[in-house]
Amino acid sequence: MTGAARTIIEGAYVATVDAAGSEYAEGHVVVEGSDIVAVGPGPAPEWAADVGGPGHPAVTRIDGRGHLLTPGLVNTHHHLYQWLTRGLAQDAILFDWLTALYPTWSKIDAEVVGAGALGGMAVAVRSGCSTMADHHYVFPRDSGDILGSIVHAAQQLGVRLSVTRGSMDLGASKGGLPPDFAVETTDAILVASDDAVRRFHDPSREAMTRIALAPCSPFSVTADLLRESATLARSLRVRLHTHGSETLEEEAFCLATFGKTPTQYLDDLGWLGDDVWMAHCVHLDDHAIARFAETGTGVAHCPSSNARLAAGIAPVPQLVAAGVPVGLGVDGSASNESGQLGAEIRMAVLMNRLRAGADGMSGRTGLYLATMGGARVLGRSAEIGSIEVGKLADLALWRVDGVEHAGIADPVAALTLGAQPPLARLLVNGETVVRDGELTRVREADVAREVSLASATLRAR
Ligand code: ZN
Repeated sequence: MTGAARTIIEGAYVATVDAAGSEYAEGHVVVEGSDIVAVGPGPAPEWAADVGGPGHPAVTRIDGRGHLLTPGLVNTHHHLYQWLTRGLAQDAILFDWLTALYPTWSKIDAEVVGAGALGGMAVAVRSGCSTMADHHYVFPRDSGDILGSIVHAAQQLGVRLSVTRGSMDLGASKGGLPPDFAVETTDAILVASDDAVRRFHDPSREAMTRIALAPCSPFSVTADLLRESATLARSLRVRLHTHGSETLEEEAFCLATFGKTPTQYLDDLGWLGDDVWMAHCVHLDDHAIARFAETGTGVAHCPSSNARLAAGIAPVPQLVAAGVPVGLGVDGSASNESGQLGAEIRMAVLMNRLRAGADGMSGRTGLYLATMGGARVLGRSAEIGSIEVGKLADLALWRVDGVEHAGIADPVAALTLGAQPPLARLLVNGETVVRDGELTRVREADVAREVSLASATLRAR
């Protein structure tokens, strides 16, 4: 043993989400430094309490009785800046909603985005989320260091972040949906993408910040940008992300403009592969599902946003059955004012049953999507997503003996079908970032005040 700080959790119902689906009614997990060093049934082994004598840090013991322990949740798709524009265009479908919001979004800068990112991430973290993927694609002229402000917000909270250098270069005058004032030039995007990777991307196992490149959608970027972003990302060894097959209107746009479905279009541009994940994928035919499976392309399933914008229900059971990596995402806060990944598990299970029947998706599949599924989608399944020896200690401890869930027959159902259980602890890299439902590293009242100020500032511009 190395003498790194050690934490022992005992007595919890442990849902490991390992390949065998191992669960222990009264299990233990031992954390040393940032790593999980033991997991199993019953009390922790005796060696766990032996820290090696004087000079070594004391052991922290957490009584897990009455609690469910799961891997920390992984959010695979967000637009954190939208935290400042919640509650607008409430009854619109995607294209009308975007058209209503582009003018406000084109006035963001690093300062307001930092406040929005802090607010959006705070709520996600309090819902059990230990890893966040943020798709940022609006970069107005002279708006400062927006990506830096998002990275800083994640560092303040202690949450693991995959932030994308997103982009739009197809304005309305060239046939795109966004107004010209909301887009950048292709060349400027590629220079900024390269710069973002060099500044922020950490390829290490414990990385807290990773970068991906993410042209926004087929109706807001050029084919040149898609092609060149893919080439650049592969030369820099970072992942690719975009929106795909979200709505019937997008499909009609692609058929009218390119003579292809969104999947055929993206496939022809080199945008299917095991280094790509795509948000939504609601309208996929059998051929598209087969291509996602053959290529290992990941999907970020965002059921609340899809319901909010009436986009449809993604064929998740078919995707999972075909072997496609699928994770959950909350999507931007302007189309999902909740922003809670914990609640998204329940939404995913219920919505998929509407399409696929009562056995279409189990609660445990929902938990898998929110943990290991998301880890696969972000290319981090070797490091996070399950409770196994050798993985990083990203752990969520949910209280299930309170008024919401006392007496429930299955603790996992408390999380996947019930009201979101209170979050007793959230560990990221072994460090406690939520205790008794509250963030440990920032004052929540300060975050709320910052978000209110930034939202008002943005509305006044
Ligand atoms: Zn999105």
